[in-house]
Amino acid sequence: MMRNSLAHTDLNCLLHPQTDPAALVAQGPLILESGDGVFVTDSSGRSYLEGMSSLWCASLGFNEPRLARAAADQISRLGTYHTFNRRSNPAVIELAERLLALSPMPDGKALFANSGSEAVDTMIKLAWLYHSGRGAPERRKIISRRRAYHGSTVLGATLSGLPSMRGAFAWPDPGVIFAEAPHFYTCAEAGESEEAFVDRLVAEVAALIAAEGAGSIAAMIAEPVMGAGGVIIPPSGYFPKLAELLREKGILLLSDEVICGFGRTGEWFGCQTFGFRPDMMSVAKALSSGYQPIGATLLTAEIHDVVSAEASRLGVLGHGFTYAGHPVTSAVALETLKIYEEMDLLAQVRARAPAFLDHINALAGHPLVGEARAVGLIGAVELVADRATRRPFASEAGIGARLVTLALDQGLIVRNLGDAIAICPPLIVTTAELELLFNRLRQALDALALETA
Ligand code: PLP
Repeated sequence: MMRNSLAHTDLNCLLHPQTDPAALVAQGPLILESGDGVFVTDSSGRSYLEGMSSLWCASLGFNEPRLARAAADQISRLGTYHTFNRRSNPAVIELAERLLALSPMPDGKALFANSGSEAVDTMIKLAWLYHSGRGAPERRKIISRRRAYHGSTVLGATLSGLPSMRGAFAWPDPGVIFAEAPHFYTCAEAGESEEAFVDRLVAEVAALIAAEGAGSIAAMIAEPVMGAGGVIIPPSGYFPKLAELLREKGILLLSDEVICGFGRTGEWFGCQTFGFRPDMMSVAKALSSGYQPIGATLLTAEIHDVVSAEASRLGVLGHGFTYAGHPVTSAVALETLKIYEEMDLLAQVRARAPAFLDHINALAGHPLVGEARAVGLIGAVELVADRATRRPFASEAGIGARLVTLALDQGLIVRNLGDAIAICPPLIVTTAELELLFNRLRQALDALALETA
């Protein structure tokens, strides 16, 4: 098939997720055909430095041969099987063991899924089952946060604090309660210290709990760093105080580690970077470096004991996906974890993080940048119309989206979340590649500054 006819067929046949259909028609699809380390190449032969690891997931870049071999070997042995009705396979067993061993709940259990959304849905269902097993089935409500993103199922949309996700899609009367996002830059009151900001946010959650009644609330779900919400890095103290409050009230704390998991923030999991112990965690994305669709819910031994007893009382754990624990996805994820351990992933991230932070901080002085923030190898620059007053651009101006187009012109893929420009390179990125990434980003910012002047 001719290349231009591929684009034509795409327009004729595909409905693209998280895409403005009119913009797709105007600009056409960006068709990626190959990858090499942190670079990807499109169908016209143009190469881009992938500053977003695809969707926050390709930690090992785009053509790791060991993962190709792991998939091929497993397909040639046992190409598919399920894990319902006591069925299991060696790959998923070994994967579960390794995953738990590096998690903060080593004596817990793992329940597999095919995506982050499914892992999140599973976590909420298990929270309900847990409370039911403890004789409190009326604990059903969930606390989420404004700007939260927890996946794209109906439940994910209902948990989301993003208008585009909720709009037409949130379930009516959902029982989801929203707390403020811990973004000091946009949410702090004039003159408020970071510590006072944290205390105010935690007091607001306490007030929400009091208003709803603690006995009606099952859990609070939170990402350690809010990714799709704009790469919001909470002030230190936020999670420890929040966790203490929730524990007092018998409300489970669910850490959505779909982006933060597997070294992204400098520890294996974001909850470790931000100092809290969740009752359950959802993981996906970098679990297989994005090479296979896989997610998992990890639960502590205490939660597991209650939910398994309750499932037995009911006769079965009435939950599961055909491809959960799939031997091929599991084999690829297992190989991914082996590579992470062999390359000493945490040492690699910690070695690159200071340069990453320096590069981000250097952009903080740019006339369009209101705030630059980073932890580990994830960060963002927030574009504002007026740095002194922190006034944002009008959303119709589409400034963030324009920057992304200008970055593409420079050979760089980044993502705009509103006017926050997210940067989340593969964890194998070298110092020289970081330099190139930020040079290209600065050039795109300079071009945007000329346009908006
Ligand atoms: N949770 C978080 C924090 C995410 O960022 C995402 C996806 O970006 C999801 C859940 C959903 O994962 P998936 O797209 O694999 O369903």
